[in-house]
Amino acid sequence: MKRCPYCDELIRDKASKCRHCGTMLVDPPAPQAPPAPAEPVDGTTLPAEEDTLDVHGTAAAERSFRLECVLTEQAGWVRSVAFSPDGTRLASGSNRRVRIWDPTAGRRLETLRGHEDRVYAVAWAPDGRRIASAGQDRTVRLWDAQTGQCLLVMGGHADTVYGAAFSPDGRHVATAGGDGTVRLWEASDGRCVQVLRGHEESVLTVAFPPDGRLVVSAGSDGRITVWDVETGEVARELRGHRGSVLSLAMGPDGQRIATGGFDGTVRIWNLRLGRCELTIEAHGREAWGVAFSPDGRHVASGGREGVVRLWHAGAGACVQELSGHTQAVRTVAFRPDGRVLASAGRDGTIRLWAEQDAGA
Ligand SMILES: [Zn+2]
Repeated sequence: MKRCPYCDELIRDKASKCRHCGTMLVDPPAPQAPPAPAEPVDGTTLPAEEDTLDVHGTAAAERSFRLECVLTEQAGWVRSVAFSPDGTRLASGSNRRVRIWDPTAGRRLETLRGHEDRVYAVAWAPDGRRIASAGQDRTVRLWDAQTGQCLLVMGGHADTVYGAAFSPDGRHVATAGGDGTVRLWEASDGRCVQVLRGHEESVLTVAFPPDGRLVVSAGSDGRITVWDVETGEVARELRGHRGSVLSLAMGPDGQRIATGGFDGTVRIWNLRLGRCELTIEAHGREAWGVAFSPDGRHVASGGREGVVRLWHAGAGACVQELSGHTQAVRTVAFRPDGRVLASAGRDGTIRLWAEQDAGA
């Protein structure tokens, strides 16, 4: 028996799919392999550019980060981190706990207790006053970010809730469920107002474009689905990842999204055109976390090998590699001003990387 790299549950050695979260345990593609026939023709595949990794050299002129602070979570894996909209606080989700940190002072401010099992997702409301969290106990919780008080517990998902996101107006929370549904909840009273069905496996991640009319979800069936929030209909479906889509990040313009997959690639998609614009062979396998820099120029990704890589979102070149985590990096997030990058994962640490001024 071995453990599923996504949910850590025991799985049979020969299993091609995890029974618990539905993650497809595909073999990683060989770096030089030609695209599989099933690959959509519009997907642009760039070769791995390991030899362009540039930690200290020319890339520094573009953007360069340096480790500033390590926060230690004592409750095991950190599966999700998110900066408050004003950048002064960081929320993290681990085993049963949501924590709020002061990332500048490097200290813990608050521990939010209530979840009865792993916390997979944390998200801030746009006004910074509430936090949504979700996890293996199948609940979605809303918290007062100041007092740490639990405001609402929303039940309805029939399995683990892997992802959560606030709508841009703060009125709704969307969640991604292991039961294959995306749900929309009224943030004021916790009412479930929409159940979006269409995914064939666990939904692992969800995000809103800035205008709030659409919601994007992805998961173990390898599909990226764009939903019309009003009608609950599928507006678009994007395919290309081989195996599960593990993470999804919205670009600042709402036109582009980045996804990370079990196949180790990070892909950048144009939502309006409905196609893949860039495929980066980002990690040997399992690109766990992705985040767009707020200026849209870069994408950060975290992988199973414990490194964070920063990519040029247009050209796909690796701008920097950040090492330090001793195990898989599960989640990455930029501070809203783009000057700090947070990464966290299986080693139970949250690392804060600060942008170095050019010439510094
Ligand atoms: Zn699993």
